[in-house]
Amino acid sequence: MRIARLKVTPVAMHDQPLLNSTGVHESHRVRSIVQVWLDNGLTGAGETYGDQTKEIEANRNWIIGWDPRNITLARLNYVGAPWSWAALETAMLDAASKHAGLPLCDYIGGRARTRVPWAAYLFYKFADEQGRGEVATGEVLTPAAFVKEAEQFVAKYGFKTLKIKGGWFHPDVDIETFHLLRKRFPTSEGYELRIDPNGAWTLETAARVAKAIAPYAPQYLEDPCGPMEDNAALKKTTEIPLASNMCVSAFSHVKPNVQQDAIDIILGDHHHWGGILAYKETGVLCRVMGWGLSGHSNNALGVSQAAMLHACAATPELNYAPDSHYPWTDTDGDVIKGGKLQFRDGFMDVPDAPGLGVEIDEGALAARHDEFLTLKLNNRAALVRRLDPKATGRPGGWTGGPWAEESVTNFPNHSLPRW
Ligand SMILES: [Mg+2]
Repeated sequence: MRIARLKVTPVAMHDQPLLNSTGVHESHRVRSIVQVWLDNGLTGAGETYGDQTKEIEANRNWIIGWDPRNITLARLNYVGAPWSWAALETAMLDAASKHAGLPLCDYIGGRARTRVPWAAYLFYKFADEQGRGEVATGEVLTPAAFVKEAEQFVAKYGFKTLKIKGGWFHPDVDIETFHLLRKRFPTSEGYELRIDPNGAWTLETAARVAKAIAPYAPQYLEDPCGPMEDNAALKKTTEIPLASNMCVSAFSHVKPNVQQDAIDIILGDHHHWGGILAYKETGVLCRVMGWGLSGHSNNALGVSQAAMLHACAATPELNYAPDSHYPWTDTDGDVIKGGKLQFRDGFMDVPDAPGLGVEIDEGALAARHDEFLTLKLNNRAALVRRLDPKATGRPGGWTGGPWAEESVTNFPNHSLPRW
């Protein structure tokens, strides 16, 4: 059983104007779809972010003729970033588990669960100019509007864990959003809340926010500060667990995190950490260290969502609902056959079909590739436009760096409810 053919296809599809501390999502996102065809007729698919064609193609010589069951040596052979390897590994595991007649998670050791819970990944956002998108296409620029967005996600997908993407507005707005969200989604009804400003806060701001939201029982604070040492200092001031997919997002970050005692919960990501098997290894790491394990998500289409689903099903240490960016994929924006994968009561069922359980829709793939070519997009993984605050109406003295307390004086004239 050998790989006879390899194809990497960069694709682009519409994205909503979601806001984070560095800017706004561009109108389109770029992903790479990796496909392998075996000499026995079986196929495999993988996905990662950005256009990774060059990097994966540079490995073509050894990939052609490789037995996809030999992941261990393939991983050593591979020259390139963990996230491009992850797409190739997923494609190889997909094909190999199809050959074994097993769902991917069962092929790599068995499932710890038959369905995986997911977190609503909620953003402040501009209205989508074309009104496209599966959910929340309107403007979300106030705490009250944010609650409405959360209501849409809960009604449509059944999520019980809600994540605020903070850091765009002044921290006082994030605090208010957290408060309103907790009022609407109480702990007594089983809702968990978390917030992630992508490291946009100074240590002082983060300590103040932590103190302000502590009464609302946050599940965790995700990357409140950028530098690991600031998060370590913050940890000494708060009981709220600290999580990260930024300062601890690779195996090389583990030792410093042990030494500094900064992050309690890892947001594993099979792209960042280098594959589905690496996600399982992250689970072992968390078990050894007594850390929690959650999941990071970014711009996923169906192949990445399915890969994450299998990784999470096969990793017993997962003890927090992973994020899923997948609801932000348009209803007709995916590249898999049969339409988008579905959430049910906040969970996604692990498919019973051999492999990943998703197949590439060649027509949709070709259409998204055409869109990529037409738009002449570059290979940036996260297409986020850095904004001029004057041009966009972003309040406060946005500097592209962490919020400083003094920017309170630039606070906009939003008539926020006070409490
Ligand atoms: Mg994050």
